[in-house]
Amino acid sequence: MGRLSKKRRLQLFLGRLTSSELPQSIKLTEIYDDTSDLWEYSIAQLSSGIVTEWGATLVVAKGTLILKNIVSGANSGVATSTEVETSETFVGTFHTHPYEDSTTGVAFSSADIASAINNGENISLVQSGHKIFMLVKTEYTPRSVDVFNVEVAFQTMVFNAMAFGESFGDAVFLANRSVVSNIWASVVCW
Ligand SMILES: [Zn+2]
Repeated sequence: MGRLSKKRRLQLFLGRLTSSELPQSIKLTEIYDDTSDLWEYSIAQLSSGIVTEWGATLVVAKGTLILKNIVSGANSGVATSTEVETSETFVGTFHTHPYEDSTTGVAFSSADIASAINNGENISLVQSGHKIFMLVKTEYTPRSVDVFNVEVAFQTMVFNAMAFGESFGDAVFLANRSVVSNIWASVVCW
């Protein structure tokens, strides 16, 4: 499938496309400056060995995807909000994954995946370095998942992948693919 029309793009953000209608990749032009800033804030104190996760709520307002409720957290977590105004439509959340040792390219944690489903996110985004990972709700996404079950499946996959010599980032990505297979679509963002 080629480029999405503006209307279809909006439908994707609103969780109204089926898995067969989703693109392989998407350019998030409308929020790129904001997400880039939040990544830069996340690693602003990296030279002092300090990193901070930043997060935000994704909403559609006046027909456009925007970030709001921008918030900073700790080195390994940030509490994003699902609160929106009546004039806005909740889409999902965005957050960053910085690491003290400069590792980048680390996708969703098991807790991220479980909370995205349990919070009813249409799309969920994680930025780690220049990479943005995206999960998209499909017709196969359940309304809720058991956080513990997701955690067990995820950690087993990460452990096994690393035992086979994969890097931490690649192991997390494989665990993402494995845990979300059949329940979420993962789309490449750039
Ligand atoms: Zn996370």
